[in-house]
Amino acid sequence: MDENRVDQNREAENDERARTTAPRHRADAPESSRQPSPHDLEVLSRQLGRPVRDVVEIPARCVCGNPLVAATSPRLSNGTPFPTTFYLTHPVITSAVSRLEAAGLMNEMNDRLAADAGLAARYRSAHEAYLSSRAEIGARSGIGAVPEIDGVSAGGMPTRVKCLHVLVGHSLAAGPGVNLLGDETIAAIAEWWTVERCYCDGAWDTGGEAPSRDLSRHGPQGLPEIVGRPAPVRKSRSDAAGAADTAATAGAADTAATAGAAGTGESQ
Ligand SMILES: [Zn+2]
Repeated sequence: MDENRVDQNREAENDERARTTAPRHRADAPESSRQPSPHDLEVLSRQLGRPVRDVVEIPARCVCGNPLVAATSPRLSNGTPFPTTFYLTHPVITSAVSRLEAAGLMNEMNDRLAADAGLAARYRSAHEAYLSSRAEIGARSGIGAVPEIDGVSAGGMPTRVKCLHVLVGHSLAAGPGVNLLGDETIAAIAEWWTVERCYCDGAWDTGGEAPSRDLSRHGPQGLPEIVGRPAPVRKSRSDAAGAADTAATAGAADTAATAGAAGTGESQ
């Protein structure tokens, strides 16, 4: 009987090892796992509380298979260029990240970026990686190049941190070691979410019809309990291009203008 238990423990250990070493949240995930199924799209709309549009890939999944991140086409179906490719959709992660934003983590990171040339260089590399991944997604989805957003990533990259959700979405999509500040943020939410476990049960409404039109009144991440995120301030042209940083990227926004409106709504 004791032997039995030992075997079971060993088996559990092996399972654990297999799970923690398996490449899961990777931009280079197999085609079958990246491709959004009708079920994925329904789950996304339930996670966000609104329908999604122009989602072309699921670059990161929960261990249970549910989407964590949606990849939006670099050009929306109405023709609008769309720089924010990776959008964090899992409500447990989005609300945990919002807590860190409210606690001032972005200010701290911006101070470090200003003081640490090595960190600044790595952050610039993350920006380049973001652009490369977007180009690959554009190619895979048949969208092709979107010159209007050349050199424009999201979340404040390459020099500032303006949205931790963007960095975490990128980190989960790219896998560890690509976006250092995103990786740090994931480590910092370990109290609420970790990559090893499924936190989906009860995280969104699974009853009734999935949202089929935009009912969101609470901004990009669609979560009424989010408070304390600063209202987006946009002064320059490059900031306008970055409007999607905090915008309803996975589909609520058809244009940068509506994205901006959603961002404003969020701060209320
Ligand atoms: Zn799950």
